[in-house]
Amino acid sequence: MKCVVGLFLLSIVISSSMFAESSTEKIRLQLKWFSSFQFAGYYMALEKGFYREAGLDVTILERDPDKNNIDQVVNGEVEYGVADSALLLYRAEGKPVQIMASIFQHSPLIFIAHKDSGIVSPYEMKGKKVSYQKGIDDAPLLAMLEDAHIAPSDYTYTPLDFTNMAFIRHEVDVMSAYSSDQPFRMKELKIPITIINPLNYGIDFYGDNLFSTEKELSEHSDRAKLFLEASIRGWRYALANRDETISVLRNKYNAKSSVEHLKYEAQISENMMMPSMVDIGYTNPQRFYRIAEIYRAMNKANKADIDRALEGLIWNPYEKHQIDVRYFYIALALLASIVVVTIALIIISRKLKAMVIKRTRALEEQQMMTDKYVIISATDLKGSITYVSKAFCDISGYTKEELIGKEHTIIRHTDTSSSLHQELWKHLHTGKVWSGEIKNRAKDGTIYWVRMNIEPILNEENITIGYRSIQQNITDKKYAEELSITDQLTQLYNRGYLDKILDKEMNRFGRYGTPMSVIMIDIDYFKEVNDLYGHLSGDRVLIELAQILKSNIRTTDTLGRWGGEEFMIICSQNTLNEALQLAEKLRLAIESYPFPRIGTKTASFGVASVRSNENELGLIQRVDNALYQAKALGRNRVEG
Ligand code: GH3
Ligand code: MG
Ligand code: MG
Repeated sequence: MKCVVGLFLLSIVISSSMFAESSTEKIRLQLKWFSSFQFAGYYMALEKGFYREAGLDVTILERDPDKNNIDQVVNGEVEYGVADSALLLYRAEGKPVQIMASIFQHSPLIFIAHKDSGIVSPYEMKGKKVSYQKGIDDAPLLAMLEDAHIAPSDYTYTPLDFTNMAFIRHEVDVMSAYSSDQPFRMKELKIPITIINPLNYGIDFYGDNLFSTEKELSEHSDRAKLFLEASIRGWRYALANRDETISVLRNKYNAKSSVEHLKYEAQISENMMMPSMVDIGYTNPQRFYRIAEIYRAMNKANKADIDRALEGLIWNPYEKHQIDVRYFYIALALLASIVVVTIALIIISRKLKAMVIKRTRALEEQQMMTDKYVIISATDLKGSITYVSKAFCDISGYTKEELIGKEHTIIRHTDTSSSLHQELWKHLHTGKVWSGEIKNRAKDGTIYWVRMNIEPILNEENITIGYRSIQQNITDKKYAEELSITDQLTQLYNRGYLDKILDKEMNRFGRYGTPMSVIMIDIDYFKEVNDLYGHLSGDRVLIELAQILKSNIRTTDTLGRWGGEEFMIICSQNTLNEALQLAEKLRLAIESYPFPRIGTKTASFGVASVRSNENELGLIQRVDNALYQAKALGRNRVEG
């Protein structure tokens, strides 16, 4: 959202800077001469507050004779200036000046001659002393002479004496003058003169132009426009209120001329502005083409330079403004689309963010649940634990810190043979998944069973970097299983399990012919124990006897309680003789065992080895018979 607010602020800044620059813009106007009616429009715009109303703080500067007033503008010493058509030549020289308004539609530059000299046109100037200021300002005068085929060699040139004294003393016959100035002075001095005006010879240059530089007019087009409009308003006011203007010029703006002179000047100015025929300030480009022609013909500039100078010579604030407005609307449209896109992006990103948060939460929950309820561990290639889930810690009773870096043997139950672990690793090294059931021992000694799936952890290059195991707690299932096959009194296998193993072993015998024998044990005179010492003592004897048997058999033997005080051992892979030997060993062990309170007890043994084509019933029958035999022959003996 911050971003959107920023964009709006930016748009406000842009639009405000486009339309209204700071309310107190300071600008300077450099005049081409000293204060007089020639510049009345600017002074009255200042005096009547037209500039101030436009938000401009304008300083009007009189001519500094030591400086070039056009260069002052070009160099940026001031922003605006007043100059004549010579601006075109400056532009041809590469100085980027632009005309904002042509105030004087005609040049006031004229020749004056003493009336008694008989000079009334350029033609009479041959052989005379002619005085003017050489340079770019002389163009209309020289053009007029050239048009009349008067070459510089046809007259005697004399530099201009600005005091007019040379002319007054008749030291020169002809001198250049301003139609608004010298004719009046000569009239005051009662010196009769003739005016030779280039205008009458088809040489029509523009007089005073308001101008500035391309830089100012492009970078500050709004204030330039405001300045121009206020100046023209000032001119209109000055022409309509001449007396007031003259008095203001004299009293406040340093105009040195007399009221009469200024009145004359006002009239000449109006003549040159022709406000009833031409809009004040209007510049006709066609006329500049003609002026350019004259300059070129006079070799004041070459064609290429002057053609280039004509391009863009006249500043058109209205066209410029239209372009500005167009750019502004384009910028506004762009800004609007940026705002729309930004808002859309914000909405999308918010939705995405919400979605991501939701998914992340779900994932975290899943992870938490997995961690909490799934027994997971990971190891490096050597089997050192690198990760354990909380569930792993819970079931094993160890903390993460206690497990990380250790091997899984830390939880191995002694019942789980080390060979199983070796086999497991061997299997994993082939890159396969291992699954199986394992009996573990928790930190507090309790037993727990897990079903385990172990698989390799692969990196991006499919290289095994460790192992991951997912385990399932099957302790309850295991207990149920054990319960169903265990005799609760003696903790040996029960009759059901013995039947199952018998069946299995009979099948094996049938398939592979491997020998298998069965030993049946029955305690001698057990009834007596119950009768003399009670059933609980009898039970204890059964428990102890079960332990004697258990500790004397081999891992390949299956020992169980057949029923009452009868036990059975299934000796897989044992011949009859081997079974007889085992039975004898057991008989001796029982016989020599001192039962607490009861003293010694004996047992009788029946042994049989499975025969071909014999079924389970047949085998049991024969074992039973052998046992019966042992009883019959005096007990505490082995028969087979
Ligand atoms: P024999 O030498 O002929 O085998 O004599 P015996 O007294 O052992 O006779 P028999 O095998 O017929 O008797 C079995 C007795 O064992 C019957 C019963 O009182 C006792 N008995 C059977 N099961 C249990 C038991 O779980 N606990 C106890 N305390 N006694 C049992
Ligand atoms: Mg019995
Ligand atoms: Mg018995």
